Amino acid sequence: MIAKSIEKMLSENQEHFLIPAEMVANVQENNFLDHALLVLTKVRYAKIPVLDNDYKFKGLLSLSMITETMLGLDELDVSKLHEIYVKDVMETDMPTIQDPYDIENVLHLLVDHPFLSVVSNDGSFTGIVTRRELMKSLNHIAHEFEKDYTVQEIEVKEDK
Ligand code: AMP
Repeated sequence: MIAKSIEKMLSENQEHFLIPAEMVANVQENNFLDHALLVLTKVRYAKIPVLDNDYKFKGLLSLSMITETMLGLDELDVSKLHEIYVKDVMETDMPTIQDPYDIENVLHLLVDHPFLSVVSNDGSFTGIVTRRELMKSLNHIAHEFEKDYTVQEIEVKEDK
């Protein structure tokens, strides 16, 4: 369990750590990999969400998933990129979260994932929560905490 006071302050800041869907670079599951390669190169993110035509969340795509398909024995074969769809190589085994978030779960998940996709009940993509935005909130709390709460240090007696 995380401290209730920290959870409360983070919850109050929730909307600050969501990057809304319209600000998030994405590719569609039916795009070919050559298009996806251009998008990923242009936006300069390591990994981005994959959506369908109805803006439903389907998975994640990274540059390395694309380059993997180009690996030949001793050279890169780019010709395949116009034959393979994003949905054929995307990652689908990743956690997603729902708004309102379970803050404790978000903190745990962000240890291993640089960002989390926020998906509503019907599968619609609402945005992402990134480590960076959460770190900004934690930074804010670290500065403001003692303005809202009185903290008392408890003396710990060491066993002899
Ligand atoms: P950050 O915590 O800002 O470094 O972001 C972590 C990861 O989240 C990035 O490497 C991207 O994979 C993803 N990301 C962050 N912002 C965006 C965005 N606007 N569009 C797509 N992906 C993003």
